[in-house]
Amino acid sequence: MDTQMLIGSTFAAGTEAEEPILNPKTGALILDLPEASHAQIDAAVDAADRAFSSWSQTTPAERSGYLLKIADAIEKDASGFATLESLNCGKPINAVLNDELPAIVDCYRFFAGAIRSMQATVAGEYLPGHTSMIRRDAVGVVGSIAPWNYPLMMMAWKLAPALAGGNTVVFKPSEQTPLTALKMAKLLADILPEGVVNIVLGRGETVGNAIINHPKIAMVSITGDIATGKKVLTAAAKTVKRTHLELGGKAPVIVHDDADLDAVVNGIRTFGFYNAGQDCTAACRIYAQSGIYETLVADLSAAVSTIRYNQEDDTENEIGPLISKRQRDRVASFVERAAEQTHIEVVTGGRNGSEAGFFYQPTVVAGATQEDEIVRREVFGPVVSVTRFDDPDQAITWANDSDYGLASSVWTKDVSRAMKAAARLQYGCTWINTHFMLCNEMPHGGLKQSGYGKDLSIYALEDYTAVRHVMIAHG
Ligand code: NAD
Repeated sequence: MDTQMLIGSTFAAGTEAEEPILNPKTGALILDLPEASHAQIDAAVDAADRAFSSWSQTTPAERSGYLLKIADAIEKDASGFATLESLNCGKPINAVLNDELPAIVDCYRFFAGAIRSMQATVAGEYLPGHTSMIRRDAVGVVGSIAPWNYPLMMMAWKLAPALAGGNTVVFKPSEQTPLTALKMAKLLADILPEGVVNIVLGRGETVGNAIINHPKIAMVSITGDIATGKKVLTAAAKTVKRTHLELGGKAPVIVHDDADLDAVVNGIRTFGFYNAGQDCTAACRIYAQSGIYETLVADLSAAVSTIRYNQEDDTENEIGPLISKRQRDRVASFVERAAEQTHIEVVTGGRNGSEAGFFYQPTVVAGATQEDEIVRREVFGPVVSVTRFDDPDQAITWANDSDYGLASSVWTKDVSRAMKAAARLQYGCTWINTHFMLCNEMPHGGLKQSGYGKDLSIYALEDYTAVRHVMIAHG
């Protein structure tokens, strides 16, 4: 197992406090990893800063070549990466190997292609005797900070567009899930020039805080909690850093009476519980129209009670545990508070799913109303709430009545109703008759307190490059 950080071309262990890395399936210690010191963080930023002048001057084709090599190397060792990610996060091995790894490899390949064909306003004489052209240049050293729910995938979403755009990076994985980033450190050091990517370990309030306040870091990209995003903004104000924020979500799922009930039930069973609901787009806030409500609650609770987790043979598992005891206790406390409301019924689940490890039962909470905490706050666990509505307009109003604005879905056979809803929903993404489906060509990112800045797609490349105007006087 790789345990060292990457600073320039040097592999080094942190010199500060140790963080225990646990196996969420058992709660057992995997290893302790020390975090980086201020001197080590400075050294990583200096290495990225030194590498920037040559890396930013490479051609798109050269950078594309590097990204393709990274993609090939991950693909070649997909099973090694999947095993490690599964160990550190508790994810079912098949989900990592078959769902996440191909998307991660494709992310590097997508940006390898995209950087060679960026678009802009055409060069021309917009003033007589002067030729103007648009450039898109690298921003500088990017500080990238990732969450624990999809460690290797969030790393790909952050590294691929940043590197494609000509930036260098200081990357910090979540202190809870650093193992695949450390494996990536070896792979990246073999492929990339010295200092282009540096990987440092540590907690948010120490190492993360040093990164977001570092004067030589030009841009901070973070995926995490809204509270963390606000800290990034405060820090960024001091030196007017660029920020790229991907924060939480509480996705509304509007189910009309005419929806295909089987598709809805299968969809929520999959997209509400994938990754044990630790997903910012999870289909967790169901609004069901009165005519379908009772059957939906009954069928959904029956379907959710069959979700396989905590099986000895991991290849049979559909979902895994929560990332930590703290997260499981947090999820359990949301359900306990909901259950205290007399109008709410926990129709399936509602308890811890294991003695050892951090499992929580897949849970459906019915009868929730718009003002209930379980409808308003992000639970980030295997829990969905169902709320009844009569009037489709009311459902849109409730869906938009949220601090979050990341993802949403509408389920109906009526195309006109679906398109009207899509036009009114204030979310970065609206799926119709599906949920959660992402592709590297399309943007992912939020509105409101879900943050701004797009991951994936050509829009991410725009975020990680600066638009510049060059004008030549003909003389
Ligand atoms: P978190 O905010 O606690 O941590 C995210 C990262 O930020 C970690 O690496 C952490 O060490 C770091 N961090 C924490 N405090 C910091 C500080 N003061 N300064 C600098 N860095 C700091 O979030 P988490 O618990 O790891 O992840 C779960 C959250 O992420 C959820 O709210 C989820 O919705 C969100 N998320 C959003 C998206 C998206 O695309 N919008 C994707 C995945 C997860």
